Amino acid sequence: MKINNILEFIYPNRCPLCDCLLEHGIKVCDACRMQILYVREPCCFRCGKEVFDEETEYCKDCMDREWNYIKGFPAINYIDPLPHSLARFKYKNCRQYASFYADEILRSKGRQILAVSPDVFVPVPVHRKRKRKRGYNQAELLARALGKRLHIPVDTEILCRNINTMPQKELGQKLRTINLSKAFQPGKKIVEYNKVMLVDDIYTTGATIDTCAAVLKRCGCKEIYYTSVCIGKL
Ligand SMILES: [Zn+2]
Ligand SMILES: [Zn+2]
Repeated sequence: MKINNILEFIYPNRCPLCDCLLEHGIKVCDACRMQILYVREPCCFRCGKEVFDEETEYCKDCMDREWNYIKGFPAINYIDPLPHSLARFKYKNCRQYASFYADEILRSKGRQILAVSPDVFVPVPVHRKRKRKRGYNQAELLARALGKRLHIPVDTEILCRNINTMPQKELGQKLRTINLSKAFQPGKKIVEYNKVMLVDDIYTTGATIDTCAAVLKRCGCKEIYYTSVCIGKL
């Protein structure tokens, strides 16, 4: 057996989206490639979610609301086959997906991210106990993969998540905000960056990103943006 065959036997190459077996060197299966629904213009000026027409500047979530971040660059709409894939990335130790997802973010929003020209990527932190249990923070893996590709540093020290928050799903909107605002704090090492690009796997209500942006502003950072693999569809 050749070494490549042995490696493939031990670590079979699988599609990051549907988990089917792939030939060596192929990154994603054809069926999934066709299914990926990239976020396309026109987009909300704030969160980057698709809007229905060119006249709509902000989606209904961003209208009449003050945000701490300036603009977002989500890559893919959160519909099949993304939900199962992101769950494996987050909870099932499929950390190797980070490089595929970083490529997809750049394929979809690389031009816009480069146009912002951030000083640094900052991943949304997880609580250290959760990170220890899971072994990794998926947002940090994404930020590192993006940083490597664009030669932009990654800062994992500026933000920390210092209490185990209650599961957001079980709380109403108001309690969610309070719950989150207590969860994120400035970390040990503060740097007053000009432009920060927050990184997360998914943007849903925006509460997490915006709370992180508020903390970064308190740290003296000026402009906060975000990018994510997915955003919830309208
Ligand atoms: Zn597939
Ligand atoms: Zn929006």
